[in-house]
Amino acid sequence: MPGFELFSDAERNEVNDVLDNGVLMRYGFDGMRKGHWKAKELESELCTAFKTNHVQLVSSGTAAVSVALASAGVGAGDEVIMPSFTFVASFEAIMMLGAIPVLVDIDDTLCLDSKAVERAITEKTKAVMVVQMCGSMGDMDAIQAVCNKHNLLLIEDACQAIGGTYKNKPLGSIGDLGCFSFDFVKTITCGEGGAVITNNEQYYINADHYSDHGHDHIGSDRGAETHPFLGYNFRISELHAAVGLAQVRRLPEFLDIQKKHFEILRQELSKISEMEFRSVPEGGVESCAFLNFFLPDTETALKVSKAFGENGIDACWNYYNNNWHYIRKWHHLKDAKSLYPLSYEIKAALEKLKTQDFSQSDHYIGRNISCLIKLSWTEAEVKERAEKMKSIIETVI
Ligand SMILES: *Cc1c(COP(=O)(O)O)cnc(C)c1O
Repeated sequence: MPGFELFSDAERNEVNDVLDNGVLMRYGFDGMRKGHWKAKELESELCTAFKTNHVQLVSSGTAAVSVALASAGVGAGDEVIMPSFTFVASFEAIMMLGAIPVLVDIDDTLCLDSKAVERAITEKTKAVMVVQMCGSMGDMDAIQAVCNKHNLLLIEDACQAIGGTYKNKPLGSIGDLGCFSFDFVKTITCGEGGAVITNNEQYYINADHYSDHGHDHIGSDRGAETHPFLGYNFRISELHAAVGLAQVRRLPEFLDIQKKHFEILRQELSKISEMEFRSVPEGGVESCAFLNFFLPDTETALKVSKAFGENGIDACWNYYNNNWHYIRKWHHLKDAKSLYPLSYEIKAALEKLKTQDFSQSDHYIGRNISCLIKLSWTEAEVKERAEKMKSIIETVI
């Protein structure tokens, strides 16, 4: 991560194809486009990459999560269980549909704790959203078992874990619906973009219509299409899809580089006996977009994080005081600071977050450091970085 580090002629050529015929829209204009269907081509490449039957491209990862939930019928008053550690997009996507975000603890995988999920289930629970954070995954068998037992949908946000697998299945393809982001800093980028993937044909048809104003996409005259149900506009443009098309073809190359860099760092840091790596469930293979480890306590982790910054080790974070990714500093959420009125049910749920006990999450997030693995480093740079990180950690401990 991120794919923009290695932009090449491949991306430029795909974009130029689109500019040469001038059709920037993914639907219609069949005569003008000289056979170029970048969004369709990218969807087909993603079906192969994620070993899944259907892919619907959308305008962002956040849109992907909303479209996935809507396509499976999640809406007003439905509770969706999500982790305390994720990106703000998770609750935004839920609340946009009038559904209620129910936040629960993570475990040492840095993802949803299946036991916390089970405790949070009520008669209003409709879906569980697992977020595969920082290149790895939750214990999917345990989470799936809870969903099966209580007849709940499983939505998988794999925006940060493209290329990771669980029991040989690509992350994102395990739940009823999976979501990806191709924003500027993800492993593959479109500039802005996202995808919903599913093996359920009806959910796919719903996602296809819903993300384009409810148009049924039957025939070749957009003006004559009917609307089986209401939709919105979450379309991706051909320009964005063109960049993604070049990038997805390079995904294996990006993943190889990530893995190589990850292994060098991990090898060096594993010599420090006081720290542990994040736990990866049995059968899981990380995407290697991040290297995550735990220090003995929060104080040490904060000191290491500060020392990294002061000594030129960039792109490593402790999320305990982070505004974007962790419940502790989501004051705008807990205070329900909305531009427009929220439903009574959503406000009541957000109010509860102020006093909810997240000490289990604090225990993991406080001690964690998450380091982004860059694609553009040279091998010598990664080795030097690994040694420097090790020596900084040893000095602080
Ligand atoms: C990036 C990200 C998103 C949202 O993606 P956008 O394309 O930026 O809207 C959602 N979930 C997670 C975990 C992410 O990292």
